[in-house]
Amino acid sequence: MADQLGSLTRTHSCGALRESDVGTEATLLGWVHRVRDLGSILFIDVRDRGGITQVVVDSEPLLSVAKRLRSEYVVGVTGTVGKRSSDTVNPKLPTGHVEVMASEIRVLNEAKTPPFPIADDTPVSEDVRLRYRYLDLRRPGLQHNLGLRHRVAMTVRRYFDEQGFWEIETPVLTKSTPEGARDYLVPSRVHPGQFFALPQSPQIFKQILMIGGMDRYFQIVKCFRDEDLRADRQPEFTQVDVEMSFARPETIFEMIEPLMQLAFREIDVNVDTPFRRVSYADAMAKYGSDKPDLRFGLEIVDVSDVWREASFNAFREIVGRGGVVRALVIPGAARYSRSELDALVDQAKQLGAVGILWARKAEGGAINTNVKAAGEATLSGSMAAAGASEQDLILLAAGEPDAASSLLGAFRLSLAKKENLIPADRYEFAWIVDFPLLEWAADEGRWSPMHHPFTSPLDEDFGLLESDPGKARAKAYDLVLNGSEVAGGSIRIHDAAVQKRIFQLLNISDEEARLRFGFFVDALEYGTPPHGGIAIGLDRLVAILAGESSIREVIAFPKTAAAVDLMSGAPSAVDPRQLRELKLRVAQ
Ligand code: ASP
Repeated sequence: MADQLGSLTRTHSCGALRESDVGTEATLLGWVHRVRDLGSILFIDVRDRGGITQVVVDSEPLLSVAKRLRSEYVVGVTGTVGKRSSDTVNPKLPTGHVEVMASEIRVLNEAKTPPFPIADDTPVSEDVRLRYRYLDLRRPGLQHNLGLRHRVAMTVRRYFDEQGFWEIETPVLTKSTPEGARDYLVPSRVHPGQFFALPQSPQIFKQILMIGGMDRYFQIVKCFRDEDLRADRQPEFTQVDVEMSFARPETIFEMIEPLMQLAFREIDVNVDTPFRRVSYADAMAKYGSDKPDLRFGLEIVDVSDVWREASFNAFREIVGRGGVVRALVIPGAARYSRSELDALVDQAKQLGAVGILWARKAEGGAINTNVKAAGEATLSGSMAAAGASEQDLILLAAGEPDAASSLLGAFRLSLAKKENLIPADRYEFAWIVDFPLLEWAADEGRWSPMHHPFTSPLDEDFGLLESDPGKARAKAYDLVLNGSEVAGGSIRIHDAAVQKRIFQLLNISDEEARLRFGFFVDALEYGTPPHGGIAIGLDRLVAILAGESSIREVIAFPKTAAAVDLMSGAPSAVDPRQLRELKLRVAQ
């Protein structure tokens, strides 16, 4: 049986003792990290969240107790702090100059042999780590990441408090909120056949808080989206949700930039403000993405003019129809082997492109390309227009502007990686602004909101709602960092008539609007202040700060890419009685 804790009280964490403590009495409570048994003397590394301390046992009866210890046993050790001799100092540990000479050891619990070692970071398959998350949490990686996450969350809370924001909770059992994903539904037992939806975000509630005069709101909040599975998505994730009354986009930018500076101080990185602003149109044209990685150049260049009169029909006709020819120059890549170049063309086909071609200068200035018919003159004209040198490779894509740039944008990223052009220790923030208000949902034959239906058009684009809605731009913005979207938001519509017009454009009938958002539209009519906000993806932000590529590394209990919790086994079947109570039957 395990010893009881009794009156044993921790005096120091396992990371706390220093030379100045030599001679004092200490009690450590933690796990056996490692045991080294040299026969008549035994060393135990005791570990807790704070660190590791070496404990020494060199006489009976304690030696017999200590010899029972195995990795991950839970112990309480009391003893006197001693100074290590200079040849036994461990410079890698902050406690490495001292050790505790044990006078009492209590075995507070035993442990089975863990399925993977806790004491080091040897790679373990993610499924096993997730199944035994309680053991994985003891390892250095997650201990570090969750500590960092805590400090970032505290920074967020302190910052917004200082800026006069109130943290206000919003309901988890609520009505569907329109963020464009599928809802998680919760059946109501009291009202059979009726359902709550888990919030995709607190969007409507935070706007109502502004109508309710709360002025400045924030919340660190879970959001739930039943989206199609993607590698780095979680069905539940955490946002720092923010809303401000009387805000313009600049008001939001100026509020968020210093917060990012504070967050990056946690990893000793200085971030310069203001962040650059890039319009959505520029981001798409130059980087082929609305979340461009700006740690490196490789901008896409429009060379359509070169092809306007070209003899190569395919590209000339595309330009003639209002399409474009765009170019990406990869510095030094003229050296690529033929198989590397073939692989690029294959990759383009996989990405769904038709018109991709490459060109480079061969010996003697001739042009070497995969599509001879494109013609030497236009190819070298394109190289000149795009600023390609003899050593460079140029990729050309033709098509609709966004499609051509998206394809080259994908190559921009993969080739920058291949060519080692991405500095790992740089953090390039940018605000992407002036997003289109709407996008055409071809499968549904209607407009859908690019952000969400409460986003305000730009003042100068209101007229376009009637004449050419697809051209209207929105007061919507994303904050991107190193190619990831870390935050997104907008200034909202605060005028009920405009809101109704947007619902019409989105083909949401009055009746549907009443059913889904009736309470919100009613609220808009009682003196709504102009307002706007943003939501920061906390998981992604902390992952970037921690240098992790997966958000699962900064979430205590994540689900797999298949939306399963391997530790608890959720989701799972429920007791038939529960289904009966809910008046639900599972269709076979
Ligand atoms: N509710 C939005 C989202 O979750 C953010 C916002 O507009 O503030 O993406």
